[in-house]
Amino acid sequence: MLQQFFRIFLGRNSSEPPSLDQVLEYTDKQLEKFGTLIQPAPESKPRTSFNAHLPKDQISMLNFTPRQRLKVLTKAVPLILNMQRGSRMIGRQTYPSTGAVSPEFIRKLETLARQAGVKDLRYIKVPPNAIFRDKGIPYPYAIIYTVEMDKEPIDTSPSFESQHEVMRGYMNLAVIANKMTAFIQKQGFAAYPGTALGGVTDYVHLGELAGLGAIGYHGLLITPGEGARLRIGTIYTNISNLPIQTTNDHLWVRDFCASCKKCVRKCPVKAIYDQPKPRGDGGMQCIDHATCRTFFTQQYGCAVCLAICPFSQVGYETVKARFKGNPHAPQFHIPVESIPTLS
Ligand code: SF4
Ligand code: SF4
Repeated sequence: MLQQFFRIFLGRNSSEPPSLDQVLEYTDKQLEKFGTLIQPAPESKPRTSFNAHLPKDQISMLNFTPRQRLKVLTKAVPLILNMQRGSRMIGRQTYPSTGAVSPEFIRKLETLARQAGVKDLRYIKVPPNAIFRDKGIPYPYAIIYTVEMDKEPIDTSPSFESQHEVMRGYMNLAVIANKMTAFIQKQGFAAYPGTALGGVTDYVHLGELAGLGAIGYHGLLITPGEGARLRIGTIYTNISNLPIQTTNDHLWVRDFCASCKKCVRKCPVKAIYDQPKPRGDGGMQCIDHATCRTFFTQQYGCAVCLAICPFSQVGYETVKARFKGNPHAPQFHIPVESIPTLS
């Protein structure tokens, strides 16, 4: 897997186009070791491809200066190694199909998570329509957690500094997922980390269903802590009595979006729809992925939309305090019947 990454990173001399999707195939393949996987719903969408099919001189990652390459490797190598290690954390084969934990266990798990750098976390029973088409997950429940990306570098997007910060966010997700997975497995319960990059479920969708925040018009999760300056991680588990939250206090965010639309105006390639479209799987289609991906690949993994979002700039509480409501906002809700109850 690391070899594949270096082929991408140093790919200027290779005859093949670089493919991040091929790196992710490695982690997807490890899941086959589980034998049986929980399957997606018929209406599930496929995972969005990372490949932009551009000439190498247009791919910013292949044209870093030597100094930039060295700097990014300090995040990229631990990221890839931890994703590789995590994808092999199958654990033992004898876990019961479900397990119940004590409140003390949850307290210890959350303390570990916070100490490792988690900003917030919630729990969910994963709805099959959030599993990507042709993928599968080993356990029905999940811990969804966020890490923050610093404002200063993200504000410079699109730039090398911003892409480096995004990479740092992914690296933190991967390190934390492995720590929490090891803790859960050591206590005798099944756990398996979702990959920091890619993954087999729609983390943004899960983040909203779990009650962490709400999906903004840019298609990213907006939360009270970080606005949109965050990355989302997932750990699948067989623990059946997780304290799952069945309400979401953040859905007013989209009413604000309907009167803001700053990301729609500021996206350099107009990839964000004026109004999200229902996607057919319970989620919302907010951006034209192909248009975004081309610019994203050319321009240091563009993060303009998340940087300029008022929630990232002045913060969730300030926006909330100033917002007077928008009764005319179109309502896009991921259907509540998808939210499971405690079992
Ligand atoms: S920039 Fe405005 S419209 Fe776009 S996600 Fe943020 S709040 Fe919503
Ligand atoms: S990442 Fe950049 S190109 Fe893509 S939707 Fe956001 S602002 Fe537009």
